[in-house]
Amino acid sequence: MRSTLIIGAGIIGASLAVRLARAGDRVTVLDAASASGGATGASFGWINASFFLNRDHFLLREDGIAAWHRLEAETGPLPIRWSGCLWWEDQGAEFDAFHTSLTELGYPAERLDRSTFSQLEPAIAAPPEQALRLPDEGAADAAQVAQILLARAVDYGVAVFTGVSVTGIEPRGTGPCRVLTAQGPLEADRVVIAAGIGAQDLLMPLGVDLPMLRRPGVMVTTRPVAPLLSHVLVAPGQELRQLADGRILAPTSAKHQEYDTSDIVEPLADLAEQTMGRLRALLPGVDLQVETTTLAMRPVPGDGLPVVGPAGPEGVYTCVMHSGVTLAAAVAELVKRELTGEGAQNRLGPYRIDRFSA
Ligand SMILES: Cc1cc2nc3c(=O)[nH]c(=O)nc-3n(C[C@H](O)[C@H](O)[C@H](O)COP(=O)(O)OP(=O)(O)OC[C@H]3O[C@@H](n4cnc5c(N)ncnc54)[C@H](O)[C@@H]3O)c2cc1C
Repeated sequence: MRSTLIIGAGIIGASLAVRLARAGDRVTVLDAASASGGATGASFGWINASFFLNRDHFLLREDGIAAWHRLEAETGPLPIRWSGCLWWEDQGAEFDAFHTSLTELGYPAERLDRSTFSQLEPAIAAPPEQALRLPDEGAADAAQVAQILLARAVDYGVAVFTGVSVTGIEPRGTGPCRVLTAQGPLEADRVVIAAGIGAQDLLMPLGVDLPMLRRPGVMVTTRPVAPLLSHVLVAPGQELRQLADGRILAPTSAKHQEYDTSDIVEPLADLAEQTMGRLRALLPGVDLQVETTTLAMRPVPGDGLPVVGPAGPEGVYTCVMHSGVTLAAAVAELVKRELTGEGAQNRLGPYRIDRFSA
């Protein structure tokens, strides 16, 4: 039985722990905080393939959707709502171009007229002349998904330690890898760095440069209101969705997945109030009050694409990406195959770290 130590208990580390444990590995997960302490706990949680940077990225994201269904079928339901998305962010030529780009890829995207939109989302004021329905998409409560997956991993024999910060990794040489913590070293046949924005600092002393973009994101959560919304909604300038507990979750920036600001300099209260203004315009007459406003750093490698694969010394493997909620289940399947002797997975080819030094 091979031993694997995963650094990071976010949605990536948790998904991988389940997959590797089910494949028979002896797995230990370490996290400096908790499953929801990083980006996973601050995410919008939209699972989609309608945002993509190139065709390979689209295919990986599309498989990301399918892989969540496979994981649910194999291990049980998860707090993911397969609601579909209604998109009307752009109109006119941009609407047509977006629709064409999706249908050319074979991605389900149905054009809705105003009256069908209103039947699907009656609470939205000023329904658009046309919208796209993206029926395969959904949204996860990412922190809960990670916590449930970790609990399932424990059932499969995984050891999880939170509040334990990894301070260094000693490469293997002829023996196992050693991971250093203030509570003493741990050894394993291999180490997987699933540490989100913490990955860069862990790799640097190993002589591996992982370029990362600085990409803060801010999310507003409202106090709970009566059930109003059924889909992930992408309105002009505002994405939103309603959580199972009635709260509405909304990024403070439009197109949050491609938002490229490196520093948030406005007071969060101002950003929250602007967001609430847009939400109130979409949902007039609903008593919407801010509950929390959260700023978190998104783990975005230098070109926006995932970094997955061996990194530096033998036995060290890295898994860092944005859209990790979309991608975690698919990436965990592929990484499990690579780590358990099924060979390099073609689908991961575009995401190796050496592309930055080529
Ligand atoms: C505002 C916002 C909105 C987002 N919206 C979406 C979305 O709609 N759809 C989508 O798919 N994705 C979205 N994302 C991205 C997605 O949430 C992340 O890609 C995903 O959560 C990354 O998961 P992870 O497990 O890699 O990282 P994290 O959740 O950050 O987990 C990494 C863990 O590693 C631990 N760690 C770090 N360093 C160390 C160390 N030295 N020792 C021990 N532990 C360590 C941390 O404590 C942390 O718990 C969003 C992110 C943000 C912030």
